[in-house]
Amino acid sequence: MDDYDFSLMKSGDNIPKIAEHVKEMLILLGEDVHREGLVKTPERVAKALTFLTMGETQDDSVKELMSTAVFSHEYDEMVLIKDIEFYSLCEHHMLPFYGRVHIAYIPNGKVIGLSKLPRVVDVYARRLQIQEQMSMQIRDAIQNNLQPKGVAVVIEAHHMCMMVRGVQKQQSLTITSSLSGEFLTDQKTREEFMTLVHVKND
Ligand SMILES: [Zn+2]
Repeated sequence: MDDYDFSLMKSGDNIPKIAEHVKEMLILLGEDVHREGLVKTPERVAKALTFLTMGETQDDSVKELMSTAVFSHEYDEMVLIKDIEFYSLCEHHMLPFYGRVHIAYIPNGKVIGLSKLPRVVDVYARRLQIQEQMSMQIRDAIQNNLQPKGVAVVIEAHHMCMMVRGVQKQQSLTITSSLSGEFLTDQKTREEFMTLVHVKND
């Protein structure tokens, strides 16, 4: 994150200002902002937050990503991409939630290059987010841009805000799913998907 070229992005201009506020926050938290370990912290935090929320300004890039890597194909069996890693920030606490996304779709004459879907996931993960909403946004991006016969998105995540408070067991996973098309209307298709990703179908 520290090495990222922030000059490429609009909100990159705000980094010095954000850093000032972070410094103020550290002072209010009782820290000595002049001690060696903290001198560069405000700038690092500003960069980290800017990096982790950059997806907010990249909605347009999803359309582009998904139009440049589409191939015509007769294949109409389920396409499944499992275990896409993601890191996001919960919008309630600005604490990380992270885990894996599983995506399946049933092509309708078009398939997308597999390397594109992790990038779509990043766009929706890198913002202040709610897990349920992230599942829906990924589903809708694929449904609207690729127009397949159906899309299924499952997200398994650990939420720091729950872990640190001990609200749930440390290793418990929050699972959300968003479906469309044949995944909604055809139970067999849905079950096949859930079995393939080893998530309980309830
Ligand atoms: Zn939270």
